[in-house]
Amino acid sequence: MVILNRKVPITLKKLQALIPRLRPDFPRIYEIKQDERNRRKGYEGEKHIDYYIELLADKFTILHDVCLEVNKRIFQMDSIIISKKAIYIIEMKDYSNKITFDTNLNQCIRSDGDIEMGYRHPIAQAENQKLLLETWLEQNLSRHIPVRYFVVFSDPNTIIDVIGDQAAIAEIVLHANHLPNKVLNIDNEINTTMKQKSHLIGKRILKENKDFEIDILQEYQISRNDILSGVQCPKCQTLGMKRGHSKWICMRCKSVSKQAHLKALSDYLILINPYISNKECMKLLNVSSKDVTTRLLKSSNLMYDPLHRRWRR
Ligand SMILES: [Zn+2]
Repeated sequence: MVILNRKVPITLKKLQALIPRLRPDFPRIYEIKQDERNRRKGYEGEKHIDYYIELLADKFTILHDVCLEVNKRIFQMDSIIISKKAIYIIEMKDYSNKITFDTNLNQCIRSDGDIEMGYRHPIAQAENQKLLLETWLEQNLSRHIPVRYFVVFSDPNTIIDVIGDQAAIAEIVLHANHLPNKVLNIDNEINTTMKQKSHLIGKRILKENKDFEIDILQEYQISRNDILSGVQCPKCQTLGMKRGHSKWICMRCKSVSKQAHLKALSDYLILINPYISNKECMKLLNVSSKDVTTRLLKSSNLMYDPLHRRWRR
């Protein structure tokens, strides 16, 4: 059973809220757009692999995008599969073209020329996650839970090449469509059953699962002044719709919307603060009447927090 589904990553949501509101001459805008594309592609790849993992949902307990804390350090795993005998960590990769694992030099080379070694090496990443998960299990459940890992490529066209020990790499690295059988075969080879029930281990992990958020304004050194206010036209994406009689009007394409402010509010709450005052709302929507913003806030899905005199989700 899948007990933790994959959601759209919060960082991707933040980037998508940020890009249309960033002043066009912001120096790192190209890099930010590139990051958004990479994260979107990564998320699509993860969902593709989820499809194959979930073919095992009848037999095993499955959690996607798990974040745990061990010794004050947060670590993230793309997916975990829990059987009666072991836990399998799935480290997902979405490289296109070709990737070469060189077991002699302990590095991997991407066809774009990047060489990944040390902590960026996909197998080293998975090994670190295994160590951290084992420590977490020891501190929270038991030291006798076997942990294994796989590095899984989402793109079926990725060519996996090996220099050196082919068999060792083939044990760990594979394409998504081979994953279900691989897990079943390896699991069959294990002779001992764990003392703990797999769904109870899953439940415990779910209980301790953390939300992992990065402050993207800090990450890209963006100040509040770099973020533009205004209501975005849902049709032509231009910022700065004008408030007419109970509707928003785009000055550029003349289209009309009753709900366009909701996106602006959601952008603000995701990017700037998790709450908004009426005054901040006036500034955000470029509206001079407090009564108008009060009406808009009341009819939104936000809740008023009388203690802080602000609106929040
Ligand atoms: Zn427009």
